[in-house]
Amino acid sequence: MMYVKNVVVGCGLSGAVIAERIASQLNESVLIIDRRSHIGGNVYDYEDQSSGVMVHKYGPHVFHTNNKLVWDYLSQFTEWHYFMYRVKAIIDGNEVNIPFNLDSLYKVFPKSIAEKLEFKLIDEFGFNKKVPILDLNKSNDDDLKFLANFIYEKVFLGYTVKQWGVKPEDLDKSVSSRVPIYISKDNRYFQDKYQAIPLHGYTKMVEKAIEHPLISVKLNTDFLNIKKSIQYDRLFFTGPIDEFFDYEFGKLPYRSLDIKFVNYDKEYFQSCPQLNYPENYDFTRSVEYKYYLDQYTERTIVSFEYPRPFEIGINERYYPIPNDINQQLYRKYYDKATNLKNTYFLGRLADYKYYNMDQVVERALILFNTIEGENKCPD
Ligand SMILES: Cc1cc2nc3c(=O)[nH]c(=O)nc-3n(C[C@H](O)[C@H](O)[C@H](O)COP(=O)(O)OP(=O)(O)OC[C@H]3O[C@@H](n4cnc5c(N)ncnc54)[C@H](O)[C@@H]3O)c2cc1C
Repeated sequence: MMYVKNVVVGCGLSGAVIAERIASQLNESVLIIDRRSHIGGNVYDYEDQSSGVMVHKYGPHVFHTNNKLVWDYLSQFTEWHYFMYRVKAIIDGNEVNIPFNLDSLYKVFPKSIAEKLEFKLIDEFGFNKKVPILDLNKSNDDDLKFLANFIYEKVFLGYTVKQWGVKPEDLDKSVSSRVPIYISKDNRYFQDKYQAIPLHGYTKMVEKAIEHPLISVKLNTDFLNIKKSIQYDRLFFTGPIDEFFDYEFGKLPYRSLDIKFVNYDKEYFQSCPQLNYPENYDFTRSVEYKYYLDQYTERTIVSFEYPRPFEIGINERYYPIPNDINQQLYRKYYDKATNLKNTYFLGRLADYKYYNMDQVVERALILFNTIEGENKCPD
């Protein structure tokens, strides 16, 4: 039987941050176990051999946050390439800024109609406001209702049906409201204070974070297969919570993606880092990674995302499906998890929650503070 003071299951951002804190602040040994062949979890990136471009294996990742603590924390492990994300959608053959904003109006409507709508939007909701499509649709003004329906049909509906494989009205409002109209001329996809890509990639950033003599990493190993052979004082589990409990209450559903990478023998494929396709094709978006780090290469590589239902053993868990039934199911696992001593669940799979990267880092830092506090005042 092997003994380690702390076992961390999963070497994604959640696992890396908690491991780093425990080793560097508590001076305790940590073993990180991951069943994948690489570190980084879903933020894993690598250089594509054919083009020389840094690509993100599990889908495009742009770091953005308003949380200075998280930004400062990660900045210990990486320099940054400052990068404000631009996304466009192809609507009626035109490339239109996403979130749909005041500039987008002029791309899809004649000038006179766009001007009228711009005036009415600012008048009813104010400038620099993000208004969810569902709220815009509640307006009493017929022109704004028309606009709401236009955006709903052209930007939201097709994309959402493709992405989730369901009707939009069956979705949790927190998901629908992620597609707002932005009453602004701000063409950035995110408005956060800090927006960047790690200069040498996410994998390097994670590698640097866990580069500590008290941290060891075991890859290609499923913790659930070896758990009987390890003893520990604390366990941090960042894998799927339902799997941890052997699906006792049932499987937590996810949406998955089939991400196809295509190399092109030309300098650029598209006009911006991300193009969305709400109306046409089976894929939802194409992403050209060379924009991310401003790489100048002769060839390029683009990923196309085909949403799929998640199937165990076939594809990856990408997006938890937020609805009441799934939350109730998650709650059963959560209640069971809180009864376990010295076992902590964190991260997107253990919390069954869509987290941005800054949120998982914050979550891990807060959990560490609690543990550090318990360490200082034992009961
Ligand atoms: C397509 C997509 C795009 C995204 N883009 C962005 C973005 O642009 N900006 C942003 O801020 N966030 C983005 N995110 C969110 C971001 O990916 C997550 O917040 C973050 O990667 C979660 O980290 P984690 O450590 O919690 O989970 P993960 O990265 O999934 O790490 C969990 C690890 O645990 C391992 N594991 C699980 N079970 C076991 C087991 N039994 N034994 C051993 N190992 C196990 C897994 O192999 C995995 O490596 C995106 C998410 C998706 C799906």
